[in-house]
Amino acid sequence: MNKPILMTACLVVATPALAQTGGDPSRDPARTEVWKPVPAVVATPRDAAPSDAVVLFDGKDLSAWEGEQGGAAPWAVADGAFTVVPGSKGIRTKRRFCDIQLHVEWRTPTETKGFDGQQRGNSGIFLQELYELQVLDSYDNPTYSNGQAASIYKQSIPLVNASRAPGEWQAYDIVWKAPRFSEGGGLVSPARITVLHNGVLVQDDTVLSGKTEYIGAPSYSPHGCAPIYLQDHDSRVSYRNIWVREL
Ligand code: MG
Repeated sequence: MNKPILMTACLVVATPALAQTGGDPSRDPARTEVWKPVPAVVATPRDAAPSDAVVLFDGKDLSAWEGEQGGAAPWAVADGAFTVVPGSKGIRTKRRFCDIQLHVEWRTPTETKGFDGQQRGNSGIFLQELYELQVLDSYDNPTYSNGQAASIYKQSIPLVNASRAPGEWQAYDIVWKAPRFSEGGGLVSPARITVLHNGVLVQDDTVLSGKTEYIGAPSYSPHGCAPIYLQDHDSRVSYRNIWVREL
């Protein structure tokens, strides 16, 4: 009774190697297995930042931020979020960053009456203080395409408009590759950005032509790692749940 079972077990063990290599060691599947390095373990809790992220706002205070002219960040913290105080100027992280993955949640004001185009829910996330990913209420709010939400301002139109209605929380997930400069200050490689807006791809490894300009063509000037800057554009835009992973 036992003999057939044993024979079957031997066949199961022996068959894959024989079948796949045909006796040729170069066809051994183990030759293309790479076991090192072993990726670090990152915990990904459902309602918190990944375990290796730097949390830039956890709902409580703006201690990771400062005003653009120095001193405490002058924006208002309430209910687990913070909101632009119009006229108080922008805020920036105390830490400097180069290549990053960045998660930011934002919300434009529910009240839109009297505000159109660039005046409706305008703020912005400036990578390295110089390169703006536009924050705007682009829900049924026409403006120039390279200035709408998820545009790289005046440089790159988003692939689609994934905007939610005013007053709803939205998210950007960003992969930012900083520009590289030579010792002499020449551009070695331009900045690149990938952005998901509410989970939808809107910038696909977009190459930037230089720092954001309101007027005229963009160009590069050499710089190092720099803070993340949030714009005060006179709209009461709110932010929450901001974290960054250095790449
Ligand atoms: Mg803006």
